Amino acid sequence: MEEIRIGVYICWCGTNISKMVDVEAAAEEIGRLPDVVLAKTYKYMCSDPGQDLIIKDIHSHHLNRIVVAACSPRIHEMTFRKAVEKAGINPYLFEMANIREQDSWVHTDRSEATSKAIGLIAAAVSRVHYHSPLEKRTVPVNPATLILGGGIAGMTAALEIADAGKQVYLVERTNRLGGQVAKFDLTYPDLSSARQLIRPIIQRTMNHPLIRIFYRTEVEEVKGYIGNFTTLLQTPEEGETELSFGNIIVAVGLRPFDPSVIPEYGYGRFPDVVTSLQFEEMIGTGRLLTKRGKEPRNVAIIHCVGSRNKKYHEYCSRTCCMVALKFTNQIRSALPDANIFEIYADMRAIGKGAEEFYARTTHQQIIFLMFAQQDSLTVIKEASKNDNCNMIITMNELLSGENIEVPVDMVILMVNMEAHENVKKVVHAVGVSLCGNQFMIEKHPKLDPVATTTGGVYIVGSCQGPKDIPDTVTQARAAAARVLGTIATGTVPVEVTTAFINDKLCCGCQTCILVCPYSAISFNQEKKVSEVNEALCKGCGTCGATCPAGAITSRNFTDEQILSQIEGILAMSYKDQSV
Ligand code: SF4
Ligand code: SF4
Ligand code: SF4
Repeated sequence: MEEIRIGVYICWCGTNISKMVDVEAAAEEIGRLPDVVLAKTYKYMCSDPGQDLIIKDIHSHHLNRIVVAACSPRIHEMTFRKAVEKAGINPYLFEMANIREQDSWVHTDRSEATSKAIGLIAAAVSRVHYHSPLEKRTVPVNPATLILGGGIAGMTAALEIADAGKQVYLVERTNRLGGQVAKFDLTYPDLSSARQLIRPIIQRTMNHPLIRIFYRTEVEEVKGYIGNFTTLLQTPEEGETELSFGNIIVAVGLRPFDPSVIPEYGYGRFPDVVTSLQFEEMIGTGRLLTKRGKEPRNVAIIHCVGSRNKKYHEYCSRTCCMVALKFTNQIRSALPDANIFEIYADMRAIGKGAEEFYARTTHQQIIFLMFAQQDSLTVIKEASKNDNCNMIITMNELLSGENIEVPVDMVILMVNMEAHENVKKVVHAVGVSLCGNQFMIEKHPKLDPVATTTGGVYIVGSCQGPKDIPDTVTQARAAAARVLGTIATGTVPVEVTTAFINDKLCCGCQTCILVCPYSAISFNQEKKVSEVNEALCKGCGTCGATCPAGAITSRNFTDEQILSQIEGILAMSYKDQSV
């Protein structure tokens, strides 16, 4: 039998770990465990010198199992697996213990945190004994890409991929391209024309020989896995079309919130209370008039309508404050003598040039009035005949502390941007999850913001969270680069730590099929047993935990591995108590 030789590396993470965990004491304790050849500490294990230390030790000490105690495996497991592989060891003969997020960051007692770290590392050492080499698998990639959504995000990604000579299928649920940006008059902070920005992109997308557009079409179901997806589209133009593609980019955007659910604002009751998008249309036609055909003398812009309010949406729509300032500039140039009231809860100047834009706008003789977002004290009511205006806004002005009345002829509601009504259908079709705010969830919010946990499916633009044009375009190009990378390679690696079913133990109850979140299991009618499609399986372990017959094993999460991990931690806590 192979002699097990384990190397253990305990990371300081600067002071992130070492401040709360006595890493040297932990290394000394762990160094005494059976089969541990060496236990070392290092300031930053993920740095190049940290990785080189592991590689050098593998060669000089003939190590064949490695444990790194550091941050969450979500952050650096791949880094260390690659380092181990570089030294000639199978990357799955490696285990990581999380002593930062699960220990040093959540404890205040150094001695307790050190004991816990020792327990967690001992558990990893015990477990790594039962690791076995796993072989990487790859699947070929179909070079076509499906893009859902024909707004600026979808079109940018489509052009990037098609310009590289690869086929794109662009599915748009309306009968036109351009999304929200096509409805804008100007963009901020430079007040340049939105139409001049979007029109050439629409034209290029429509005329590109490698972009096939399906209008008034929605995707009902996508089958397959990274590199090899299929769907059947029903299009009022072309009837039934079957498509095959290797990657999917979801860019379905957002829609404006309906403010009629906030009765205080009188939307739908007062004709001169309009939404931000309705105002975009008005200003685009150059006719800035009330419903009675008069130029408004007093215009109010109310921020955060449906945003940052637990009753409607708790999140910030990110762009509305700057769009409100854009409107202010447009109104000031169209109506130089009008009174303009910016009624805001907080001014959020996000993005390059936004703060300067805010500063410039404050010099335009604007009246800024602040309200507390959680109050419902801002109410619009009809003015009396003697008031010389259309409506009166009553509010508690936060900075002065006064209850005031603001006479207005027109009110613009800066409405929240929220998920489309059909978003659940989209995510169900492509296998992506939604957060509580109904935005699509990325694989990692910081380190992998356009990928999702479903291989080959990317999310870009506002369906991932409200964002401005530059951020949207950045994401679209990032996703396109990821897609082109996989097409250029020709193959993509698929999950190795998948589940497998022992058909001698399977009783055919099909419980596993019901619980698998990735639809990776099907029933073999001939053999009367369930089978895992390993290209679809993400190794989540749900089926293994549910199978009543114990027929399912998850690679790298075998009963032996889990039990030995528990034994490792229990042995240490027992020792700790006896001390
Ligand atoms: Fe910090 Fe993780 Fe890097 Fe260590 S490996 S320095 S814990 S980020
Ligand atoms: Fe077979 Fe277990 Fe699936 Fe039931 S849950 S079908 S026993 S593998
Ligand atoms: Fe499905 Fe998860 Fe089981 Fe894989 S491990 S077959 S993804 S339930």
